[in-house]
Amino acid sequence: MTSATAVVSSAPHTASFQYLWVTFVKTTVIIPAAGTGKRFGNAIPKQYLELGGIPTIVRTLLLFENIPQIGAIVVAVHPDWEDFLRKAAAQYGISKVSDIQHGGAERQESIAHALASSSVSNADIILVHDAVRPFCSAELVCRIIAAAAENGAAIPAIMPKETIKRVGEGDIIAETLDRSALRAAQTPQGFRAEVLQTAYAAAGNLLGTDDASLAEAAGFPVAIIPGEERNIKITTQFDWNIAELIAAEQAKQHINGTTRQP
Ligand code: C5P
Repeated sequence: MTSATAVVSSAPHTASFQYLWVTFVKTTVIIPAAGTGKRFGNAIPKQYLELGGIPTIVRTLLLFENIPQIGAIVVAVHPDWEDFLRKAAAQYGISKVSDIQHGGAERQESIAHALASSSVSNADIILVHDAVRPFCSAELVCRIIAAAAENGAAIPAIMPKETIKRVGEGDIIAETLDRSALRAAQTPQGFRAEVLQTAYAAAGNLLGTDDASLAEAAGFPVAIIPGEERNIKITTQFDWNIAELIAAEQAKQHINGTTRQP
């Protein structure tokens, strides 16, 4: 194990005992990583940039590599980055990547390609997790597997801190929404395999910004469980600055020998 692997794998594993039964549920995670980072404005997509000396996607892969409840990982990448991914997986000792599929023009298309993988066909539960969310805890992953097994579909979400407005013509507020009824959706989103496959097959022209929206449209109930504030989706340069702080904090805790995250 490289020292970098040790830093990333210092995430808490207290979840392992409480969610031991989840180990017997065959769970495959799909990592869509084929984005080109238009909103980030860098020639290299952010999932391949190093965060504290470790490529962001490697941090995300190590998270699942180190969770015993996860059996296999399928990654969707742009063809230009397949070689990078294979080499990085070998370098960091990531053994659970069972398939690499080529992504599509949209996130949804990338996941549809991954869903066709034979590595997914024997899974009971399928998780989908953005490559650009490297700070999700092992405990949250296990809670999602358990909630998806129980409800058919489950996602983590957090309460919005801001007051949310719906905007109408000419940037005039059309409505102030009831914040107590709103949630910001995160990943990993978890589904019984037949639920996600059915939702994707039924999607047609519907383009969702997450996987739950396809399950909702197909008529499946989707449970919400508490997400994590630190489970940020690195989208903008400012998010990247925050991510660097979190990564530095993780490294410091590793050096101090503590495992608890802030
Ligand atoms: O574009 P967005 O911010 O929704 O990206 C979320 C995740 O989906 C990222 O990990 C990105 O690499 C991935 N993605 C993909 N294929 C695309 C677009 C985004 O796999 N065509």
